Amino acid sequence: MTDQNRRQFLAASASAAFLASTTSPRRVVAAPAKVRRIATEEHIAIPEVLNAFSKLAATSTSPNVKYLQMFYGNPLYVRKLTNMDVRLAEMDRAGLDMQLLQHQSVQDFSPEEGTALAALANDRLAAIIKEHPGRFAALATIAPQDPQKAADEIERAMTQLGLNGISIYSHTQGEFLDDPKFWPIFDAAVKHRAAIYMHPGFPPDSMVAPFEKYQMVAALWGFQAETGLHAMRMILGGVFDHYPDLQIVLGHMGEALPYWLYRTDDIFALLMGDEFTPAGRRARPGGAAPGMVRLKKRPSEYFRSNFRITTSGMFWNPTLEYCVKLLGAEKVLFAVDYPFEETEIGVNFMKHAPLSSRDRALILHGNAEKLFRIKA
Ligand code: MN
Repeated sequence: MTDQNRRQFLAASASAAFLASTTSPRRVVAAPAKVRRIATEEHIAIPEVLNAFSKLAATSTSPNVKYLQMFYGNPLYVRKLTNMDVRLAEMDRAGLDMQLLQHQSVQDFSPEEGTALAALANDRLAAIIKEHPGRFAALATIAPQDPQKAADEIERAMTQLGLNGISIYSHTQGEFLDDPKFWPIFDAAVKHRAAIYMHPGFPPDSMVAPFEKYQMVAALWGFQAETGLHAMRMILGGVFDHYPDLQIVLGHMGEALPYWLYRTDDIFALLMGDEFTPAGRRARPGGAAPGMVRLKKRPSEYFRSNFRITTSGMFWNPTLEYCVKLLGAEKVLFAVDYPFEETEIGVNFMKHAPLSSRDRALILHGNAEKLFRIKA
């Protein structure tokens, strides 16, 4: 199928589904009721942040800032990130009921500027939710570079603004959340029962160079390598022993971690000097290797208890079936990754995915309603 044909096919099947979805199930007995569709990693940016970022990029020497500006300076993305009519038209065309909005990162700014821009963005997100009832929910954006102010903003966003969770774009200027200086953020997240959507960032400046060949810095390989690393640091640093109720959401079907759980458990046991590893071999003698933290559970058990994953940018049946089998459909949420992926492609993928109607409903809306406290 050519690209042109594929697009026409997708557009045709989307509009057919839209027509079908407007037919009352009471009159057409055989047609199943339309399942609500909520997409949970849908990006947005206010012009103030994009303008401030352009200014930062003009003087910054950070590779992270340079790469991010390639996205923020792209007129196609800017239009889709900032224009609500364009966004709603794409949602309507695809038959998407609701977007959980995720504002672009403010983590490269100074602590003062980042904190102020996060508050401005969150005010704007709350206004958008009010203006379009039922179409949007939103994650609060924060600036972890000032952990206490970030915690205060979580409190404000979850109480006064009524937002639905928290967004963090992975590392903050090369620092990771396993560092206890960031843990006021987790205190606030747990207190307000706010899940944290851990969105990929570029590999930090200290590790970006090997990714620069073959355009690997972004979604080709850099994002998943960096974000998988961040999740592993949180697990191995004991974050979830301190915060057993903390919920982290990873996009892109778990940033490869679901594929590695057996080996991480096995090597972890080996490094801890446990008597046996999951492979059944005797672990290293002489106790834990330097720097290891003794945990209450195996790495895979934290992944099962403290993580959810979404379908953003991973519209592929083998991965979906594997993750549903491994983790249960309760742990998988639908996401597109607007504007970097097309909503119609994501919606069509879910339409034809080999799932039971129960699992499809959980993934398309039930899990999101529960986790992000979206009115059912
Ligand atoms: Mn994304």
